[in-house]
Amino acid sequence: LVEIAYHDNAEEELKASNLYPPLDGGALREKIAESYGVTPSEVIVTNGSDEVLNFIFKAFCSKTRPAAFADITYGFYSVFAEINGVPYVEIPLKDDFSLDPADYIGISKNIFIANPNAPTGRAIGRDEIEKIAASNPDNVVAIDEAYVDFGGETALPLIKKYKNLIVVRTFSKSRALAGARVGYAFADPELISDLYRIIYSTNPYNISRADLAMALGAIEDSAYTERLCKDIIAARDHTQKALGELGFTVIESSANFIFARPGKIEARELYLKLKDAGILIRYFDKPRIKDWLRITVGSLEQMQQLMLAIKNILLTEEAR
Ligand code: PMP
Repeated sequence: LVEIAYHDNAEEELKASNLYPPLDGGALREKIAESYGVTPSEVIVTNGSDEVLNFIFKAFCSKTRPAAFADITYGFYSVFAEINGVPYVEIPLKDDFSLDPADYIGISKNIFIANPNAPTGRAIGRDEIEKIAASNPDNVVAIDEAYVDFGGETALPLIKKYKNLIVVRTFSKSRALAGARVGYAFADPELISDLYRIIYSTNPYNISRADLAMALGAIEDSAYTERLCKDIIAARDHTQKALGELGFTVIESSANFIFARPGKIEARELYLKLKDAGILIRYFDKPRIKDWLRITVGSLEQMQQLMLAIKNILLTEEAR
């Protein structure tokens, strides 16, 4: 992190730490716009993408403007709806956890879709997003692309055409900067300025110069991000195959985690046994996904350690 903060822009940002940070993300906002081929007025920079998601609820949802999202998706959407007093509907994913875009056509609600979805890792295409945005012109459609760099198709080109579309991104995943707390979003300048009004009236200096410097360093080092994504995708694909060979049902992931159902052991039991072995994976105590596990993809070596631990646990089970 220290190294990446020494890119030109980043160093300048750090050196100015005796001053309050820029109100709008400053050089980082401009750099993001340049990197993605949009104007700075189409970009908002926030304290993690959780902040912009919360602000989308605050700015555009209300008692009379409810929200809609999948029943199995990022857990914070319902939290943000509730703390902001926003009614919401949870639209069930299909049995295979795929999202049916038809369920979102013309529903007159503000729509939140994680694409790729968490924790399933499934993604839908840009064409589907376009149909959803086009059919809900009086509502915002927020596409949370936290995991898009691991295999999703971005909806970003659509923001020029659909004034109700917001594409949310983060530095926490593919750019490996979860500790810096920087998120951002792309949308029509009118939506962006509405969101900035929320920032200016709650916490105007929402991102520290140190965070801005780290994010600037990261975006300037796109080769590092590309290498990281390539390695994670390779480790993911290797692990998916290995889990399949051990009898797991694996959902083809477009993210940096794997959603899988063990065949020979209860999900909760495997989660607890791996925890005993010092490996933490995610178990959800929710009726629809209680048989499933979400495994974050690390380095190939870490994934090989995980596979070894799973094999040992299954062997001990069989011997009982
Ligand atoms: N969206 C999704 C789908 C996520 O999984 C996460 C990470 N937990 C976030 C948004 C928030 O990430 P951050 O606030 O670190 O940008």
